Amino acid sequence: MRKPLVIGNWKMHGSQRSVGQLLDGIAGVADLAVEVAVCPPFVYLAEAAAKVSGTGIRLAAQSLSEYECGAYTGEVAGSMLADVGCRYVLVGHSERRRLFGETDHRIARQFERALAAGITPVLCVGEDAAERNVDATWQVLHRQLATVANAAGWEALGESVIAYEPVWAIGAGATASPAQVEAVLVRIRDLLGSGGAGPRLLYGGSVSKLNAAELFALPDVDGVLVGGASLQAEEFTAICRLAVGESWKPW
Ligand code: PEP
Repeated sequence: MRKPLVIGNWKMHGSQRSVGQLLDGIAGVADLAVEVAVCPPFVYLAEAAAKVSGTGIRLAAQSLSEYECGAYTGEVAGSMLADVGCRYVLVGHSERRRLFGETDHRIARQFERALAAGITPVLCVGEDAAERNVDATWQVLHRQLATVANAAGWEALGESVIAYEPVWAIGAGATASPAQVEAVLVRIRDLLGSGGAGPRLLYGGSVSKLNAAELFALPDVDGVLVGGASLQAEEFTAICRLAVGESWKPW
């Protein structure tokens, strides 16, 4: 496995105080051979940037606008995220798709905006339970990937980060089985190629310190995208340690 990437998606949680406390709590991960990024809510990005500066922990955003700049009330541009020091941005998270009507085409434009701003997009793809139940998983994933690739180019997609996040596993406490995860990641890698840098493939969906080791052991897992468990410093640190084969039990 390449240097693992562990991203914590804090979603719409926290306060000025708790953001500082959480970053203090995970400070130890900076010493590990793991690339760690956190996605605080937009309003806390700048102070999180100040706090992680010089630590090696990367800053990421949870979303971005499909527009460059202008009269788009409530939107945040990729250039603004770059300005405050974001290295990554989530694009197409299932909560954005499901709850905020983000379509494949809008997500493709966001992906392009991220690249234009010099930020690496983390494209989230995944099927819901109904789609899996009718064996449409690959059809859905292929459509989500191809729409972005047709806009931004297959090569750009192949050099980004792809997070396979089955919707039925997010926040559900039910992780996809290692076999289910590996089967999907192999197909994504086949589609996008493994030449050059190749895409970095993450799994997301109820990752915790109890299931992370078996996920990191999979040949095609380059890292994980963690939601709920990233809000607990001890739990998130444990996942980062498991990424490099350490145990979380001694502490
Ligand atoms: C997520 O929101 O990307 C996620 C994977 O959440 P959770 O870990 O809580 O399932």
